[in-house]
Amino acid sequence: MTTIHAGGCLCGSVRYETLAAPDRVTICHCTFCQRATGSAYMVEPIFKCEDLRVTAGEPAVYSVRSAGSGKMVHVHFCRTCGTKLYLTFERFAGSCGIYAGTFDEPDWFDIPPATSKQIFTSEARHDSILAADLPSFERHAFLNDGTPVEPVVYALPHVIGRRDG
Ligand SMILES: [Zn+2]
Ligand SMILES: [Zn+2]
Repeated sequence: MTTIHAGGCLCGSVRYETLAAPDRVTICHCTFCQRATGSAYMVEPIFKCEDLRVTAGEPAVYSVRSAGSGKMVHVHFCRTCGTKLYLTFERFAGSCGIYAGTFDEPDWFDIPPATSKQIFTSEARHDSILAADLPSFERHAFLNDGTPVEPVVYALPHVIGRRDG
């Protein structure tokens, strides 16, 4: 595995590189991520911002207040083609969450259970599949006061059922 991994938007105007492995990986099923990705969930490898550098173009930024934390989330995207590339956070200054599918090789990083989690499974659309062995949380892994939440760990892949009402 080489250290540098490149990625970019659909049109190629904005290009970036990461210089290290992600600190952790979050798979988020919340409705914010469903809307932002236009898909069922976000695979979000999280890097130190110093390990991410933009090598071409300059992303535009859309800032929105998180309904959960009340803190600002900054979505960095290509103004030409609309591809979202990465997130930065008021709440976690120094961390950058990349939209994994924008890597040239989206498969390059591992999702190790010790440093990864799947969150907001309570908002996951039905028929989504939760990975086995990965800590799963109905919402955040921590309460607002910092108390850790006990995860669920499935022994086998778990299919989200359709909810009533
Ligand atoms: Zn673009
Ligand atoms: Zn989310």
